[in-house]
Amino acid sequence: MGEPGRAGDHQWSQEHLSHYVEGELPPRARRRLDRHARDCVDCGRGLRAMRAVVHALQGLDGLAGARAPATIFDRVRLAGRGGAASSQNA
Ligand SMILES: [Zn+2]
Repeated sequence: MGEPGRAGDHQWSQEHLSHYVEGELPPRARRRLDRHARDCVDCGRGLRAMRAVVHALQGLDGLAGARAPATIFDRVRLAGRGGAASSQNA
């Protein structure tokens, strides 16, 4: 016990999990986090969870790029028309 370096590694790893998963860490930092996550149940689990989230977000991004805009524009157009018409008529 009493390994300040290791405790610091844990803190540091927790703070950099998302950067690691998004590929924003330089190679040396990736290796540091890799090594720590292998020894640390917490960070290993966090890393997997973070990967799953990023994966899910990327999937959503693809869907949003393909479909959401049309739907949203339609809705806005309809809402705008309805709102303008009713306020003009009223
Ligand atoms: Zn850790």
